[in-house]
Amino acid sequence: MAEAQVLLRGGMVYDGTGSPGIPGDVLVVGERIEAIGPLGDVPDAAVIDAAGCCVAPGFIDPHNHADHEVEGGILAHPLADNLVRQGITTIVCNQCGGATFPVGDFLDRFGTVGAVTNVAMLASHGKTRNLALKAAGGKNGPEMWQTMRNLLRDEMEAGALGVTTGIIGVTCERIPTEELVEAGRAVAPYGGVYASHIRDEGEYGRHLDAIGEVATVARETGAKGHVSHLKLWGHPNWGRTDEVLAIFERARRDGAVLLADQYPYIGGYRGFFSLLWDKQAKGTNDPAWRAAAEAEVRRQLDLLGGPERLYISSHEKNDPLDGLTIGEAANVLSLRPEEVVPELFWREPRPRLSAFFLAMREEDVRTFMTSEFTMVGTDSHVRIPGSGASHPRNFGVYPRLLGKYVREEEVMDLPRMIRRMTSQVAEQFGIARRGQIRKGFQADLAVFDPATVRDRSTWRNGYAYPVGIRHVLVNGGVTVRDGLPVGRGFGRAVRRGA
Ligand SMILES: [Zn+2]
Repeated sequence: MAEAQVLLRGGMVYDGTGSPGIPGDVLVVGERIEAIGPLGDVPDAAVIDAAGCCVAPGFIDPHNHADHEVEGGILAHPLADNLVRQGITTIVCNQCGGATFPVGDFLDRFGTVGAVTNVAMLASHGKTRNLALKAAGGKNGPEMWQTMRNLLRDEMEAGALGVTTGIIGVTCERIPTEELVEAGRAVAPYGGVYASHIRDEGEYGRHLDAIGEVATVARETGAKGHVSHLKLWGHPNWGRTDEVLAIFERARRDGAVLLADQYPYIGGYRGFFSLLWDKQAKGTNDPAWRAAAEAEVRRQLDLLGGPERLYISSHEKNDPLDGLTIGEAANVLSLRPEEVVPELFWREPRPRLSAFFLAMREEDVRTFMTSEFTMVGTDSHVRIPGSGASHPRNFGVYPRLLGKYVREEEVMDLPRMIRRMTSQVAEQFGIARRGQIRKGFQADLAVFDPATVRDRSTWRNGYAYPVGIRHVLVNGGVTVRDGLPVGRGFGRAVRRGA
Protein backbone atom coordinates (compact mmCIF):
# COMPACT_ATOMS: atom_id res chain seq x y z
CA MET A 1 0.00 0.00 0.00
CA ALA A 2 1.27 3.42 -0.90
CA GLU A 3 2.06 5.81 1.95
CA ALA A 4 -0.53 8.40 2.78
CA GLN A 5 -0.06 11.67 0.96
CA VAL A 6 -1.34 15.07 2.00
CA LEU A 7 -1.12 18.14 -0.20
CA LEU A 8 -1.38 21.55 1.47
CA ARG A 9 -2.46 23.61 -1.50
CA GLY A 10 -2.03 27.28 -2.24
CA GLY A 11 -0.67 28.72 0.99
CA MET A 12 2.10 31.19 1.74
CA VAL A 13 4.98 28.97 2.81
CA TYR A 14 7.38 30.18 5.53
CA ASP A 15 10.28 27.77 5.90
CA GLY A 16 11.10 28.76 9.49
CA THR A 17 14.58 30.16 8.84
CA GLY A 18 13.44 33.77 8.80
CA SER A 19 13.13 33.90 5.00
CA PRO A 20 10.05 35.63 3.56
CA GLY A 21 7.04 33.56 2.61
CA ILE A 22 6.72 32.07 -0.87
CA PRO A 23 3.36 31.12 -2.41
CA GLY A 24 3.18 27.42 -3.04
CA ASP A 25 2.16 23.92 -2.02
CA VAL A 26 3.65 21.47 0.44
CA LEU A 27 3.45 17.74 -0.23
CA VAL A 28 3.66 15.34 2.70
CA VAL A 29 4.33 11.65 2.10
CA GLY A 30 4.05 9.47 5.18
CA GLU A 31 5.76 11.31 8.02
CA ARG A 32 8.01 13.47 5.88
CA ILE A 33 7.92 16.59 3.79
CA GLU A 34 8.41 15.42 0.22
CA ALA A 35 8.19 18.55 -1.93
CA ILE A 36 7.64 22.30 -1.73
CA GLY A 37 6.67 24.64 -4.57
CA PRO A 38 4.00 24.96 -7.21
CA LEU A 39 3.13 21.27 -7.43
CA GLY A 40 -0.05 21.22 -9.53
CA ASP A 41 -2.27 18.17 -9.20
CA VAL A 42 -0.95 15.27 -7.16
CA PRO A 43 -3.08 12.17 -7.81
CA ASP A 44 -3.85 10.13 -4.66
CA ALA A 45 -3.02 13.00 -2.28
CA ALA A 46 -5.63 14.21 0.18
CA VAL A 47 -5.88 17.95 -0.39
CA ILE A 48 -6.05 20.56 2.37
CA ASP A 49 -6.91 24.01 1.08
CA ALA A 50 -4.41 26.52 2.49
CA ALA A 51 -5.47 29.48 0.33
CA GLY A 52 -5.18 32.76 2.25
CA CYS A 53 -3.22 30.99 4.98
CA CYS A 54 0.38 30.84 6.12
CA VAL A 55 2.02 27.43 6.21
CA ALA A 56 4.76 27.29 8.85
CA PRO A 57 6.76 24.59 10.55
CA GLY A 58 4.89 23.32 13.62
CA PHE A 59 5.85 25.36 16.67
CA ILE A 60 8.44 23.90 19.03
CA ASP A 61 7.91 24.91 22.65
CA PRO A 62 11.25 24.79 24.50
CA HIS A 63 9.70 25.20 27.96
CA ASN A 64 6.72 23.05 28.84
CA HIS A 65 5.49 21.40 32.03
CA ALA A 66 3.12 18.88 30.44
CA ASP A 67 5.12 15.90 31.74
CA HIS A 68 4.37 16.41 35.40
CA GLU A 69 1.05 17.61 36.62
CA VAL A 70 -1.49 17.28 39.36
CA GLU A 71 -3.95 15.99 36.79
CA GLY A 72 -1.47 13.46 35.44
CA GLY A 73 -0.10 15.50 32.55
CA ILE A 74 0.24 14.42 28.98
CA LEU A 75 0.56 10.70 29.77
CA ALA A 76 -2.89 10.77 31.38
CA HIS A 77 -4.34 13.20 28.83
CA PRO A 78 -2.60 12.48 25.52
CA LEU A 79 -5.40 14.12 23.53
CA ALA A 80 -5.51 17.33 25.60
CA ASP A 81 -5.68 19.95 22.87
CA ASN A 82 -4.74 23.27 24.50
CA LEU A 83 -1.21 23.03 23.09
CA VAL A 84 -1.80 21.63 19.61
CA ARG A 85 -4.61 24.11 18.93
CA GLN A 86 -2.01 26.86 19.28
CA GLY A 87 0.00 25.17 16.51
CA ILE A 88 2.49 23.54 18.89
CA THR A 89 3.77 20.22 17.54
CA THR A 90 6.75 19.52 19.82
CA ILE A 91 7.25 20.32 23.50
CA VAL A 92 10.44 20.15 25.56
CA CYS A 93 9.56 18.95 29.06
CA ASN A 94 11.10 18.29 32.47
CA GLN A 95 11.81 21.94 33.23
CA CYS A 96 12.84 24.16 36.13
CA GLY A 97 15.08 21.53 37.73
CA GLY A 98 12.99 18.61 36.51
CA ALA A 99 10.74 16.23 38.45
CA THR A 100 10.97 13.30 36.04
CA PHE A 101 13.75 10.69 36.24
CA PRO A 102 14.90 8.71 34.40
CA VAL A 103 13.89 10.29 31.11
CA GLY A 104 14.33 7.08 29.10
CA ASP A 105 11.40 5.44 30.92
CA PHE A 106 9.25 8.50 30.39
CA LEU A 107 10.05 8.66 26.67
CA ASP A 108 9.29 4.93 26.28
CA ARG A 109 5.93 5.33 27.97
CA PHE A 110 5.17 8.47 26.00
CA GLY A 111 5.81 6.58 22.77
CA THR A 112 2.85 4.29 23.49
CA VAL A 113 0.10 6.79 24.36
CA GLY A 114 -0.59 8.41 20.98
CA ALA A 115 -0.31 12.02 22.15
CA VAL A 116 -1.19 14.98 19.94
CA THR A 117 2.30 16.50 20.17
CA ASN A 118 5.87 15.23 20.13
CA VAL A 119 7.77 15.31 23.41
CA ALA A 120 11.46 15.80 24.15
CA MET A 121 13.02 15.84 27.61
CA LEU A 122 15.76 17.57 29.55
CA ALA A 123 17.64 15.72 32.29
CA SER A 124 16.81 16.67 35.84
CA HIS A 125 19.54 18.33 37.87
CA GLY A 126 17.28 18.22 40.93
CA LYS A 127 16.80 14.45 40.84
CA THR A 128 20.35 13.51 39.85
CA ARG A 129 21.92 15.79 42.46
CA ASN A 130 19.72 14.35 45.21
CA LEU A 131 20.69 10.79 44.27
CA ALA A 132 24.36 11.76 44.09
CA LEU A 133 24.18 13.61 47.39
CA LYS A 134 22.65 10.57 49.06
CA ALA A 135 25.36 8.31 47.64
CA ALA A 136 28.01 10.70 48.98
CA GLY A 137 26.53 10.59 52.47
CA GLY A 138 25.19 14.12 52.18
CA LYS A 139 28.57 15.65 51.41
CA ASN A 140 28.59 18.14 48.54
CA GLY A 141 31.91 18.08 46.70
CA PRO A 142 33.92 16.50 43.88
CA GLU A 143 32.87 12.92 44.71
CA MET A 144 29.18 13.85 44.63
CA TRP A 145 29.64 15.85 41.43
CA GLN A 146 31.26 12.88 39.72
CA THR A 147 28.26 10.68 40.56
CA MET A 148 25.89 13.40 39.36
CA ARG A 149 27.81 13.73 36.11
CA ASN A 150 27.62 9.99 35.52
CA LEU A 151 23.86 10.03 36.06
CA LEU A 152 23.47 13.01 33.72
CA ARG A 153 25.59 11.28 31.11
CA ASP A 154 23.24 8.26 31.28
CA GLU A 155 20.31 10.62 30.80
CA MET A 156 21.96 12.13 27.72
CA GLU A 157 22.62 8.64 26.35
CA ALA A 158 18.92 7.89 26.89
CA GLY A 159 17.99 10.84 24.69
CA ALA A 160 17.83 13.94 26.89
CA LEU A 161 18.55 17.21 25.07
CA GLY A 162 20.44 18.74 27.98
CA VAL A 163 20.07 19.46 31.66
CA THR A 164 17.63 21.70 33.53
CA THR A 165 18.32 23.40 36.83
CA GLY A 166 15.71 25.08 39.02
CA ILE A 167 17.64 26.79 41.77
CA ILE A 168 14.90 28.59 43.60
CA GLY A 169 14.00 28.70 47.25
CA VAL A 170 16.02 28.63 50.44
CA THR A 171 17.30 25.06 50.11
CA CYS A 172 18.95 25.89 46.79
CA GLU A 173 21.04 28.71 48.20
CA ARG A 174 23.55 26.08 49.31
CA ILE A 175 24.08 24.86 45.73
CA PRO A 176 27.44 26.28 44.62
CA THR A 177 28.04 27.55 41.09
CA GLU A 178 30.77 24.87 40.79
CA GLU A 179 28.10 22.18 40.99
CA LEU A 180 26.17 23.82 38.16
CA VAL A 181 29.36 24.01 36.10
CA GLU A 182 29.74 20.25 36.66
CA ALA A 183 26.20 19.72 35.40
CA GLY A 184 27.08 21.76 32.30
CA ARG A 185 30.22 19.66 31.82
CA ALA A 186 28.14 16.48 31.75
CA VAL A 187 26.01 17.61 28.80
CA ALA A 188 28.49 19.74 26.82
CA PRO A 189 30.19 16.81 25.00
CA TYR A 190 26.77 15.94 23.53
CA GLY A 191 26.16 19.47 22.30
CA GLY A 192 23.58 19.69 25.10
CA VAL A 193 21.83 22.70 26.50
CA TYR A 194 22.11 23.93 30.09
CA ALA A 195 18.69 25.45 30.80
CA SER A 196 17.95 27.17 34.05
CA HIS A 197 15.13 28.57 36.09
CA ILE A 198 17.55 31.04 37.62
CA ARG A 199 18.02 31.83 41.31
CA ASP A 200 16.17 35.11 41.16
CA GLU A 201 14.03 36.75 38.47
CA GLY A 202 14.14 40.13 40.18
CA GLU A 203 12.17 39.51 43.34
CA TYR A 204 15.28 39.72 45.51
CA GLY A 205 17.30 42.12 43.36
CA ARG A 206 19.86 39.49 42.34
CA HIS A 207 18.67 38.62 38.86
CA LEU A 208 21.71 40.03 37.01
CA ASP A 209 23.99 37.72 39.01
CA ALA A 210 21.56 34.87 38.40
CA ILE A 211 21.69 35.34 34.61
CA GLY A 212 25.45 35.83 34.84
CA GLU A 213 25.69 32.42 36.49
CA VAL A 214 24.16 30.76 33.40
CA ALA A 215 26.68 32.67 31.28
CA THR A 216 29.48 31.33 33.52
CA VAL A 217 28.34 27.74 33.02
CA ALA A 218 28.12 28.24 29.25
CA ARG A 219 31.52 29.93 29.08
CA GLU A 220 33.34 27.41 31.25
CA THR A 221 31.83 24.24 29.83
CA GLY A 222 30.82 24.89 26.23
CA ALA A 223 27.26 23.80 27.01
CA LYS A 224 24.61 25.98 25.35
CA GLY A 225 23.38 28.32 28.07
CA HIS A 226 19.67 28.97 28.23
CA VAL A 227 17.66 31.18 30.58
CA SER A 228 14.14 29.84 31.03
CA HIS A 229 11.17 32.25 30.93
CA LEU A 230 13.22 35.46 30.86
CA LYS A 231 11.58 38.35 32.67
CA LEU A 232 12.07 41.33 34.95
CA TRP A 233 9.96 40.68 38.05
CA GLY A 234 8.89 43.55 40.25
CA HIS A 235 8.65 47.28 39.58
CA PRO A 236 12.08 48.18 41.06
CA ASN A 237 13.56 46.26 38.11
CA TRP A 238 11.32 47.50 35.34
CA GLY A 239 13.24 49.13 32.51
CA ARG A 240 16.52 47.36 33.27
CA THR A 241 16.45 45.39 30.02
CA ASP A 242 19.74 46.90 28.78
CA GLU A 243 21.65 45.51 31.75
CA VAL A 244 20.15 42.07 31.17
CA LEU A 245 20.80 42.01 27.43
CA ALA A 246 24.38 43.20 27.99
CA ILE A 247 25.06 39.88 29.76
CA PHE A 248 23.89 37.99 26.66
CA GLU A 249 26.07 40.23 24.44
CA ARG A 250 29.12 39.70 26.61
CA ALA A 251 28.66 35.93 26.57
CA ARG A 252 28.53 36.01 22.78
CA ARG A 253 31.71 38.10 22.61
CA ASP A 254 33.35 35.45 24.79
CA GLY A 255 32.34 32.77 22.28
CA ALA A 256 29.64 31.21 24.45
CA VAL A 257 26.05 30.45 23.49
CA LEU A 258 23.54 32.15 25.78
CA LEU A 259 19.89 32.43 24.76
CA ALA A 260 16.51 32.56 26.51
CA ASP A 261 12.86 31.77 26.03
CA GLN A 262 10.02 34.10 26.87
CA TYR A 263 6.22 34.07 27.04
CA PRO A 264 4.31 37.17 25.89
CA TYR A 265 2.48 38.11 29.10
CA ILE A 266 3.13 40.52 31.96
CA GLY A 267 2.03 37.99 34.58
CA GLY A 268 3.53 34.85 36.05
CA TYR A 269 1.78 31.97 37.83
CA ARG A 270 2.36 30.71 41.34
CA GLY A 271 0.70 28.74 44.04
CA PHE A 272 0.06 30.69 47.23
CA PHE A 273 1.02 27.59 49.15
CA SER A 274 4.62 27.66 47.90
CA LEU A 275 4.77 31.40 48.46
CA LEU A 276 3.84 31.05 52.12
CA TRP A 277 5.24 27.58 52.67
CA ASP A 278 8.26 28.50 54.77
CA LYS A 279 6.00 30.57 56.99
CA GLN A 280 3.74 27.62 57.82
CA ALA A 281 5.99 25.82 60.28
CA LYS A 282 3.52 26.07 63.14
CA GLY A 283 0.41 25.81 60.96
CA THR A 284 -1.89 28.39 59.54
CA ASN A 285 -3.94 28.72 62.73
CA ASP A 286 -0.99 30.33 64.51
CA PRO A 287 -1.43 34.13 64.87
CA ALA A 288 2.31 34.59 64.32
CA TRP A 289 1.98 32.80 60.99
CA ARG A 290 -0.90 35.06 60.04
CA ALA A 291 1.13 38.18 60.75
CA ALA A 292 4.11 36.86 58.77
CA ALA A 293 1.88 35.83 55.88
CA GLU A 294 0.25 39.28 55.76
CA ALA A 295 3.67 40.90 55.70
CA GLU A 296 4.75 38.65 52.83
CA VAL A 297 1.60 39.37 50.82
CA ARG A 298 2.09 43.09 51.45
CA ARG A 299 5.66 42.80 50.16
CA GLN A 300 4.44 40.96 47.06
CA LEU A 301 1.70 43.49 46.36
CA ASP A 302 4.24 46.28 46.67
CA LEU A 303 6.55 44.54 44.17
CA LEU A 304 3.64 44.23 41.74
CA GLY A 305 2.53 47.81 42.16
CA GLY A 306 -0.90 47.23 43.73
CA PRO A 307 -3.68 44.75 44.56
CA GLU A 308 -5.26 45.07 41.11
CA ARG A 309 -2.18 43.28 39.68
CA LEU A 310 -2.77 40.00 41.45
CA TYR A 311 -5.52 37.65 40.25
CA ILE A 312 -6.85 34.72 42.26
CA SER A 313 -7.17 31.51 40.32
CA SER A 314 -8.97 28.70 42.07
CA HIS A 315 -8.70 24.98 41.44
CA GLU A 316 -12.24 24.52 42.80
CA LYS A 317 -15.21 24.65 40.46
CA ASN A 318 -17.60 27.59 40.99
CA ASP A 319 -15.36 29.29 43.54
CA PRO A 320 -16.80 32.83 43.80
CA LEU A 321 -13.29 34.27 44.21
CA ASP A 322 -11.97 32.69 41.00
CA GLY A 323 -10.84 35.33 38.51
CA LEU A 324 -11.01 38.23 40.96
CA THR A 325 -8.12 40.51 41.79
CA ILE A 326 -6.99 40.60 45.40
CA GLY A 327 -8.49 44.09 45.58
CA GLU A 328 -11.87 42.81 44.39
CA ALA A 329 -11.74 39.82 46.72
CA ALA A 330 -10.95 42.15 49.61
CA ASN A 331 -14.17 44.05 48.88
CA VAL A 332 -16.20 40.85 48.72
CA LEU A 333 -14.78 39.61 52.04
CA SER A 334 -14.64 43.05 53.72
CA LEU A 335 -10.93 42.70 54.39
CA ARG A 336 -7.77 44.62 53.56
CA PRO A 337 -6.03 43.20 50.45
CA GLU A 338 -3.11 41.71 52.39
CA GLU A 339 -5.54 39.88 54.67
CA VAL A 340 -7.31 37.95 51.93
CA VAL A 341 -4.84 35.12 51.39
CA PRO A 342 -4.04 34.51 55.08
CA GLU A 343 -7.79 34.47 55.75
CA LEU A 344 -8.33 31.76 53.13
CA PHE A 345 -5.52 29.68 54.64
CA TRP A 346 -7.03 30.29 58.06
CA ARG A 347 -10.35 28.85 56.91
CA GLU A 348 -8.75 25.86 55.23
CA PRO A 349 -5.12 24.83 55.87
CA ARG A 350 -4.32 24.16 52.25
CA PRO A 351 -6.77 25.94 49.94
CA ARG A 352 -6.45 24.94 46.30
CA LEU A 353 -5.56 28.39 45.10
CA SER A 354 -3.06 29.82 42.69
CA ALA A 355 -2.51 33.32 41.49
CA PHE A 356 -1.35 35.32 38.54
CA PHE A 357 1.19 37.93 39.55
CA LEU A 358 1.27 40.78 37.05
CA ALA A 359 4.87 41.47 38.01
CA MET A 360 6.30 42.49 34.63
CA ARG A 361 5.99 45.54 32.45
CA GLU A 362 4.66 45.43 28.89
CA GLU A 363 7.51 47.56 27.52
CA ASP A 364 10.12 45.17 28.93
CA VAL A 365 8.24 42.17 27.53
CA ARG A 366 8.47 43.77 24.09
CA THR A 367 12.13 44.70 24.43
CA PHE A 368 13.03 41.12 25.30
CA MET A 369 10.74 39.85 22.55
CA THR A 370 12.55 41.80 19.83
CA SER A 371 16.00 40.77 21.05
CA GLU A 372 17.82 38.27 18.86
CA PHE A 373 18.69 36.34 22.04
CA THR A 374 15.15 35.22 22.81
CA MET A 375 12.87 32.60 21.37
CA VAL A 376 9.25 31.79 22.17
CA GLY A 377 8.45 29.44 25.04
CA THR A 378 5.17 28.91 26.86
CA ASP A 379 5.94 27.70 30.41
CA SER A 380 2.54 26.05 30.02
CA HIS A 381 0.76 22.91 31.14
CA VAL A 382 -1.74 20.43 29.80
CA ARG A 383 -5.15 21.83 30.67
CA ILE A 384 -8.57 20.26 30.35
CA PRO A 385 -11.23 22.98 30.55
CA GLY A 386 -12.56 23.15 34.10
CA SER A 387 -9.70 21.17 35.61
CA GLY A 388 -8.04 23.91 37.66
CA ALA A 389 -6.36 27.27 37.48
CA SER A 390 -5.20 28.19 33.98
CA HIS A 391 -2.77 30.93 33.03
CA PRO A 392 -3.86 32.33 29.64
CA ARG A 393 -0.56 31.10 28.14
CA ASN A 394 -1.87 27.52 28.35
CA PHE A 395 -4.15 28.34 25.42
CA GLY A 396 -2.77 31.49 23.86
CA VAL A 397 0.98 32.08 23.43
CA TYR A 398 1.50 31.52 19.69
CA PRO A 399 -1.79 33.00 18.43
CA ARG A 400 -1.16 36.00 20.69
CA LEU A 401 2.25 36.61 19.17
CA LEU A 402 0.95 36.21 15.62
CA GLY A 403 -2.17 38.31 16.22
CA LYS A 404 -1.43 41.01 18.78
CA TYR A 405 2.31 41.46 18.30
CA VAL A 406 2.82 40.78 14.58
CA ARG A 407 -0.45 41.81 12.88
CA GLU A 408 -1.89 44.44 15.19
CA GLU A 409 1.10 46.12 16.77
CA GLU A 410 3.77 45.27 14.19
CA VAL A 411 6.38 44.68 16.87
CA MET A 412 8.14 42.25 14.54
CA ASP A 413 7.76 40.92 11.01
CA LEU A 414 6.17 37.53 10.48
CA PRO A 415 9.17 35.56 9.12
CA ARG A 416 11.29 36.56 12.09
CA MET A 417 8.56 35.71 14.58
CA ILE A 418 8.07 32.29 12.96
CA ARG A 419 11.80 31.66 13.20
CA ARG A 420 11.66 32.34 16.97
CA MET A 421 8.93 29.68 17.22
CA THR A 422 10.62 27.01 15.09
CA SER A 423 14.18 26.74 13.74
CA GLN A 424 15.78 28.88 16.45
CA VAL A 425 14.40 26.49 19.07
CA ALA A 426 15.40 23.36 17.15
CA GLU A 427 18.94 24.71 16.81
CA GLN A 428 19.38 25.67 20.47
CA PHE A 429 17.94 22.39 21.77
CA GLY A 430 19.55 20.12 19.19
CA ILE A 431 16.29 18.82 17.73
CA ALA A 432 17.08 17.18 14.41
CA ARG A 433 14.92 17.35 11.25
CA ARG A 434 12.22 19.55 12.75
CA GLY A 435 11.59 23.29 12.87
CA GLN A 436 11.86 23.93 9.12
CA ILE A 437 9.83 23.23 6.03
CA ARG A 438 12.40 21.34 4.07
CA LYS A 439 12.40 18.20 1.96
CA GLY A 440 13.12 15.19 4.18
CA PHE A 441 12.16 16.94 7.42
CA GLN A 442 9.39 15.55 9.63
CA ALA A 443 6.02 16.88 8.53
CA ASP A 444 5.17 18.96 11.60
CA LEU A 445 3.17 21.86 10.16
CA ALA A 446 0.98 24.71 11.38
CA VAL A 447 -1.44 26.41 8.98
CA PHE A 448 -2.95 29.68 10.20
CA ASP A 449 -4.93 32.60 8.86
CA PRO A 450 -2.76 35.71 9.32
CA ALA A 451 -5.80 37.98 9.08
CA THR A 452 -7.72 36.43 11.97
CA VAL A 453 -5.30 34.52 14.18
CA ARG A 454 -5.47 35.68 17.80
CA ASP A 455 -5.63 34.48 21.40
CA ARG A 456 -8.78 34.69 23.50
CA SER A 457 -7.76 33.52 26.96
CA THR A 458 -7.44 36.14 29.69
CA TRP A 459 -6.54 36.47 33.38
CA ARG A 460 -10.19 35.99 34.26
CA ASN A 461 -10.74 33.13 31.83
CA GLY A 462 -7.62 31.14 31.05
CA TYR A 463 -9.46 28.42 29.15
CA ALA A 464 -10.50 30.10 25.91
CA TYR A 465 -9.24 28.48 22.73
CA PRO A 466 -7.59 30.75 20.16
CA VAL A 467 -8.93 31.43 16.69
CA GLY A 468 -7.20 31.33 13.32
CA ILE A 469 -5.06 28.20 13.75
CA ARG A 470 -6.64 26.24 10.92
CA HIS A 471 -4.76 22.98 10.44
CA VAL A 472 -1.97 21.23 12.32
CA LEU A 473 -0.02 18.19 11.15
CA VAL A 474 2.22 16.17 13.46
CA ASN A 475 4.55 13.64 11.83
CA GLY A 476 2.35 13.86 8.74
CA GLY A 477 -0.83 13.06 10.66
CA VAL A 478 -3.64 15.62 10.48
CA THR A 479 -4.25 16.47 14.15
CA VAL A 480 -6.23 19.71 13.88
CA ARG A 481 -8.51 20.27 10.89
CA ASP A 482 -10.51 23.46 10.26
CA GLY A 483 -9.61 24.63 13.75
CA LEU A 484 -10.83 21.52 15.57
CA PRO A 485 -8.97 18.47 16.88
CA VAL A 486 -9.63 15.26 14.98
CA GLY A 487 -9.31 13.14 18.14
CA ARG A 488 -6.17 11.23 17.20
CA GLY A 489 -2.55 11.72 18.14
CA PHE A 490 0.59 11.09 16.09
CA GLY A 491 3.19 12.43 18.55
CA ARG A 492 6.53 10.69 18.98
CA ALA A 493 9.20 10.72 21.63
CA VAL A 494 11.96 12.99 20.35
CA ARG A 495 15.40 11.87 21.45
CA ARG A 496 18.69 13.70 21.09
CA GLY A 497 20.38 12.94 17.81
CA ALA A 498 17.55 10.72 16.56
ZN1 LIG B 1 10.48 27.83 35.91
